[in-house]
Amino acid sequence: MRYVSTRGAAPVLGFSDVLLAGLADDGGLYLPERWPELPPLEELRGLSYPEVAARVMWPFVDGDDAPGALDRDSFERLVHEAYATFDTPDVCPVVPLGSAGGPGGVEGDGPELHLLELFRGPTLAFKDVALQLVGRLFDHVLSARGDRVCVLGATSGDTGSAAMHACADRACVDIVILFPDGRTSDVQRRQMTTLDAANAHAVAVPGTFDDCQDLVKAAFADVAFRDEVRLSAVNSINWARVMAQVVYYLTSSLSVAPDGGPVSFVVPTGNFGNILAGWVAKQMGLPVDRLVVASNRNDILTRFFSTGTMAITEVVPTTSPSMDIQVSSNLERLLFEVLGCDGAALADLMAAFRADGTVSVPVEVLQQLQAEFDCGRLDDESAAAVIRTVQQHTGLLVDPHTAVGIGVAEALADGGPLSDPSVPVVCLATAHPAKFPDAVEAAVGVRPALPAHLGDLFERPERVEHCDADLDAVESLVRRALPTY
Ligand SMILES: *Cc1c(COP(=O)(O)O)cnc(C)c1O
Repeated sequence: MRYVSTRGAAPVLGFSDVLLAGLADDGGLYLPERWPELPPLEELRGLSYPEVAARVMWPFVDGDDAPGALDRDSFERLVHEAYATFDTPDVCPVVPLGSAGGPGGVEGDGPELHLLELFRGPTLAFKDVALQLVGRLFDHVLSARGDRVCVLGATSGDTGSAAMHACADRACVDIVILFPDGRTSDVQRRQMTTLDAANAHAVAVPGTFDDCQDLVKAAFADVAFRDEVRLSAVNSINWARVMAQVVYYLTSSLSVAPDGGPVSFVVPTGNFGNILAGWVAKQMGLPVDRLVVASNRNDILTRFFSTGTMAITEVVPTTSPSMDIQVSSNLERLLFEVLGCDGAALADLMAAFRADGTVSVPVEVLQQLQAEFDCGRLDDESAAAVIRTVQQHTGLLVDPHTAVGIGVAEALADGGPLSDPSVPVVCLATAHPAKFPDAVEAAVGVRPALPAHLGDLFERPERVEHCDADLDAVESLVRRALPTY
């Protein structure tokens, strides 16, 4: 498989180079130059999650002639190791939610709703599904190349802890994550600070998430420093993350539509990274009916899919903070495809967006997008009401991100695009309720318990470094954090 940049002006690369590069040289995002076909679904039935994952992903990895390219046996081994860190052998299990359209929303005569639990990994959010694998792939390729990198990132909570757990104890990776001191939840902070790995560093910085992000950008912009410590990132634009997410669209389809019929998916999204993987699964031949973008009040995506205009507005804080974003970077991959894989046209579009903070696509492009995607948004009060009704009708606690998706599913099942009772609907559960205990407790009066593997999180010793919000301080901290050879 070869990969091309969405902006059309970067070298064509194989998988291992795309993995390490993240962003393409021309500022674009890498995409495979064609979509491989899924193996026949009947061949996948009965296989374990890692077995399905290795089979579905291998065509994206294969045909790489760069140094350190992965062979199939190593790839399979890394896939198995990555998913052995999950607390269930199903890895991403599906649980029934009842049917849409009844009183309280979950006992009516609409389609069956299902919850796809993506939070059974080490840090309780869906990012573990991709990052547990990506950390291992990184390490393998670097070690085969005799290379080593320092991953530097900023986090408001979720991504940083998932990345730290993915890179912990990898031989060829160090990881330094800056977080805003006092502004993450206790669970999020402890997931970073209680990690017992010498190569993983959680750094508290006075200020906001944006201050942390600015420091990281400044460190990457300091070319001498970047080269000296071999800075790298594992952010959401990395193709390998999208690839790893394709798998659960397939495994959940096998589980809710064993006859191979179509399924719809509702995805609480911010960066468009998760739902893009659903679209990729469809391009690979998975029978997908509707793909639904679910937003909180930060609804740039919902506005885009309803009007064809993408316009930046101020970010407002919500109870689903991992979707509080302004720009959905992964949307670029979808736009490239619907613009006929014209890198120059896409580069123009993105330049206009950067310059004006707003851009519109032609009406035919909007129609093409609307042929596959629907969208909806939910405010915090309605999300809290969803947490309550789901608990009343099923006994399950859901987190506020997941609740946004379920609420949007309910709304679209009521005479809308999800109302066909013969098409099951899978709602992606992107976080464990215990990751956002305050919002869940405010909604239902019950504080969700941490799962057994994290039961002692509040007793574990914390290890945290402190650093001024200043580039020199960050750079010297990174230098000190690195092992001496
Ligand atoms: C990151 C995250 C999201 C948003 O995912 P995208 O890929 O950015 O769309 C949703 N929910 C949770 C809990 C997350 O951590």
